[in-house]
Order: sequence, then structure tokens, then C-alpha cells
Amino acid sequence: MDISSLLTFGSILSFSSLLIHRQRDPQKFYCITFDLDDTIWRCRPVIERAADTFMQYLHSNYPEIAKLYPTKTEWRTLSAQVAKEYPDKKYDLSLLRKLCLEKVAKEAGLNPIDVVEPAHKAFLDERNQVMDQLFPDALEVLKEIQAQGIQMGAISNGNAVVADISGLRDFFAFAVNPETAGAKKPSMLPFEQALKWSNANAPCEIIHIGDSITSDVQAAQKFGCRTVWIKSGSIWSGTAASLAGDKVNNGRGDVELNSLSELLPVLRRWKVLR
Ligand SMILES: [Mg+2]
Repeated sequence: MDISSLLTFGSILSFSSLLIHRQRDPQKFYCITFDLDDTIWRCRPVIERAADTFMQYLHSNYPEIAKLYPTKTEWRTLSAQVAKEYPDKKYDLSLLRKLCLEKVAKEAGLNPIDVVEPAHKAFLDERNQVMDQLFPDALEVLKEIQAQGIQMGAISNGNAVVADISGLRDFFAFAVNPETAGAKKPSMLPFEQALKWSNANAPCEIIHIGDSITSDVQAAQKFGCRTVWIKSGSIWSGTAASLAGDKVNNGRGDVELNSLSELLPVLRRWKVLR
């Protein structure tokens, strides 16, 4: 194919993609993205249980490490110290835990290869046990959106792995987290990745739902999405309590809900659902 044919071929392609784009309804939403921690499930009990399981695992399998770091308090101090050592990596909680494990394995005279992955897995397996902490109506909300054929994705700042949560994975077409995006919300990177992985052609075709006014609502608004602020989870994260007036006034979401249970009527009002 010579260059002029290529150009013609390219013009046809871009013309046809323009036609496809024009056929899309500008009022339609092609994807709903959810934050996870404190939006779909209560985060605090999940994290505390995972941290307890992790400590028990260290005690049972690596007494040499447990002697140096006997409780969650010593482990938290170590985590904060390692996060300071790797400021450019602190968005990735899994990587930080692995760096901590590598360090303590060496201190205890163990081979990091024998420690890092198994101990991290012990934490993560428990971190993914979220089904008993789902907010009321979470499953009903996800089932109804799925039943009406709307794509859903997750955009989380945590390290839960949706693909490993058997009761939830079938609802989500994709899951963005700091590890996949290389940054945490409110950075635009997780939203850019979600847009790429979604059925949406533009941010205005996505509705993002989350509990953090800064990381979810204001960041998604900046990116160009419609937003829903679920206020129930913000009590634990401290977000609502610590908000300065300016932060609230910068953007409170297109709608504010006290709980996930109130979401379906809003989506019907917006004609996202029948
Ligand atoms: Mg959250």
C-alpha cells in the first residue's frame, strides 16, 4: 500500500470513527465507576482483621521476625519509616508492605524470597474478605445496574483485588488501583486508566461514585465525570470531619447521598436506569 492509499485509508477510518462517535447519545452514560473502601464495604474492620491475620502469620511462620516486630504498633512504625524512605512509592500499599517484609527478613537473618510473597499473600487474602462488611443494599445496587446492561468498574486507592473477591468480581468489568495506575486518586491517572478500560469514549460518559470528597468527587469532577458523593464512609476516613469550607465549596458532587441505598432512585431520575 503506497502512502496516498494509507492516507485515504486513514481518512476513511477517522471519518467512520467520527460517525460512530456522533451516533453516541451525548446524554447517555456508558460506565459507572465505584470507589471500593468505605463506598461498597466498611473499610476499617476489613483492614484491622487483615492486619491481625498478618501478625498471626508472622508469629506462626517467622518467630525471628515476630521477636523484632511483635505487635501492630511496631509494624506501623516500620511502615511509616519505609514510606519515608520511598516517597515516590508510597501510593502503592502492596509494594510498601513487600519492602517492609524484605527489610525485616534481612534483619532477622532470613531469605526475603521465603518471606515476602507468602506473608504478603496472608495479608491480602484476608484484605479481600469483604463480603460480611458490605454496606446495606450494595449487592442489590450492583445487581440492578448489571441487570440493565450498564458497565461497571472499580477505581480504588486501596489494595483489595476485586478479581479475587468471588462475590463481587462478576459485577466489575475492570478494576483500577494504585498498582495498575501508578498513582492514587486524586491524581488523574487512575481516571485516565478507567476511561481507557471502559466503554466510555469521554469522561462525561462516566459516573463516578465514592465516599471521599477530594479523591472521588472533586477529582472525578476535574476529570469531567458526573459524580455521586456517598457520605456514609467518610466518618471513618475522617474526610467529612476534616473538610475545610473551601474544599467543600469546590465541589460537593452532583448529588450527595447518606448511603448507597439511595443510589438507585438517583440513577433512575438521571435516566441511567429504567
Ligand atoms: Mg473510599
